[in-house]
Amino acid sequence: MTRIVYVNGRYLPYAEAAIHPEDRGNQFGDAVYEVCEVREGRLTDETRHLARLERSLGELGIPEPMSRAAWGRVLRETIRRNRVRNGLVYLQVSRGVARRDFFFPAPDTLPTVICLARRLSSTKAESQAAKGIAIQSTPDVRWGRCDIKTVMLLPATMAKQRARESGANDAWFVDEKGYVTEGASANAWILDRDGKLVTRALDNAILPGVTRATLLDVLKREGIAVVERPFTIEEAQGAREAFITSATSLVMPVVTIDGKQVGNGAPGLLALKLRAAFHEVAERAPA
Ligand code: PLP
Repeated sequence: MTRIVYVNGRYLPYAEAAIHPEDRGNQFGDAVYEVCEVREGRLTDETRHLARLERSLGELGIPEPMSRAAWGRVLRETIRRNRVRNGLVYLQVSRGVARRDFFFPAPDTLPTVICLARRLSSTKAESQAAKGIAIQSTPDVRWGRCDIKTVMLLPATMAKQRARESGANDAWFVDEKGYVTEGASANAWILDRDGKLVTRALDNAILPGVTRATLLDVLKREGIAVVERPFTIEEAQGAREAFITSATSLVMPVVTIDGKQVGNGAPGLLALKLRAAFHEVAERAPA
């Protein structure tokens, strides 16, 4: 449960936390965010998450409201006040409050900063990983800058809801050429028929996942080669393994795609091995 929410410099009880109706995040989706894993009270991959936050702000021309060290203090204090040992911390920065107008507000408008933290059950996550997840594919109708982590999440919301209604757990987006771009809130991977690990190369069509980047470090350590190229749903259905990566799902095996079994329909052994190895390599920030 979230007990305390950080809003613009104040730590407020959940029921009292609020932002202005004319916040640009609210009216235009003019905001960026980060979600970081909290494990045994420590942030996972803090440096990469904060670097990506700074990049997202820079790409949208939102002034940086605080320093790297100050972000770290807000994240830690929010985690501490919510007594989260295992879970997530969510940080959102909007362009601030201004009378509704498409044009950017005056440069001295203060960004709105929100931070909240909540517990997640690691037992639940592990039992999901032991079963694997079902994916439903859907056309990628998002904009051309999916490399920026904005709060414009309606396509992801629609895709996930439709997936759930059809009995699947999550969704993968497919571009106009028939290639998988990424998951609705995760990067997509396969172990192809030739035993090569494949994930789409970074470009404007996908988010540069922090978990993806750290998994590349894991693969380097393990001496496992990775090929960065696009793949289709048909190739993924015929692959030996498939999985997704994100800060909250880590490495999560995919066992069906559009109702077709991947491999023998059980979580892949490589995916489970990489899941187990992930935290040996990921940055564990000081408490
Ligand atoms: N792709 C999308 C669209 C996402 O929303 C996310 C995470 O929310 C990811 C990929 C995975 O990114 P990360 O590993 O940094 O959580």
